[in-house]
Amino acid sequence: MKILVTGGAGYVGSHAVIDFCDAGHDVTVYDDLSLGMTDNIDIRATFVEGSTHDISLLRDVLSQGFEAVVHFAAWKAAGESMVDPKKYSHNNMNGTLNILNIMMDLNIKYFIFSSTAAVYGFPEYLPIDEDHPVNPINYYGYTKLAIEQNLKWFSDLQGLRYAALRYFNAAGYDVKGRIRGKERNPQNLLPVVMEVASGIRNSLKIFGDDYKTHDGTGVRDYIHVNDLATAHIKALDYLVDNDKDIVLNLASGEGFSVLDVINETEKVSGNAVPYEIEGRREGDPAELVSISKLAWAHLKWKPVFSDLNTLITSTWNVYKP
Ligand code: UDP
Repeated sequence: MKILVTGGAGYVGSHAVIDFCDAGHDVTVYDDLSLGMTDNIDIRATFVEGSTHDISLLRDVLSQGFEAVVHFAAWKAAGESMVDPKKYSHNNMNGTLNILNIMMDLNIKYFIFSSTAAVYGFPEYLPIDEDHPVNPINYYGYTKLAIEQNLKWFSDLQGLRYAALRYFNAAGYDVKGRIRGKERNPQNLLPVVMEVASGIRNSLKIFGDDYKTHDGTGVRDYIHVNDLATAHIKALDYLVDNDKDIVLNLASGEGFSVLDVINETEKVSGNAVPYEIEGRREGDPAELVSISKLAWAHLKWKPVFSDLNTLITSTWNVYKP
């Protein structure tokens, strides 16, 4: 199938592009390179440098016989979205609606959407399943939920078929070492820990050590990017085979604390990871773990690379000096 992958030069997108190419799809990456890197793009894919706000370029490109769009291009820092919401409404909402509007004009039917656990907000129970109420507590999560709701309307009114994949904490790097580009200006825990272990930063701030978790630090469900990538291929197959939409969680089902991540990184790298304890970060729940029961039921997907050692080792292979 001819597929456009927006944000295909970015962190999760570049891993998915490899798998779409491996599956025999004809892949074009559409990326503005604001955070993505051309080095990350599989050589089997065609590359178009462009923004989701460039409607005429998007229309020209999408007019070339595409059947599906896999949409990664978005901002993803929850904290930043609370201080600069316009940046998030512009890219995550306007940019996505531009794509959807053009897809509807051109009768492009299939859409795979990078959604997020942030649509749920504070957990009312754990593990979070897809029946958990959605109530985002940061603007980033709201932008993703708003698009999910638009997708439902586009599906009901225009016959779009979509998969909304709610990632928990995306982490790790390609276990075969094919993606080497480090994330620029990272704010998530794993790349920050890696920057400390490799000497790019001096130390790390731990946001809270007084949570009711096994060691007092925040617990998250880290899902390996290779596992995420696989789910996208299966989700597209599902849409084509079943002609039905799906909304599902992608998670490992296991939680690791900030200190678990630091300890494993020290073990794998052989380097110290100095840290200071800061106050809690606003909007951070103590624990966020999920169960991907729908991904198993519909896609026969289960994570295989999301154990702590594989997450850390695959990332250290990219960060080690
Ligand atoms: N965290 C931290 N220091 C950092 C970045 C993150 O202590 O520099 C903690 C954060 O409070 C949370 C966990 O690490 O408990 C994962 O945070 P991240 O920002 O990676 O993802 P989030 O869960 O916020 O989506």
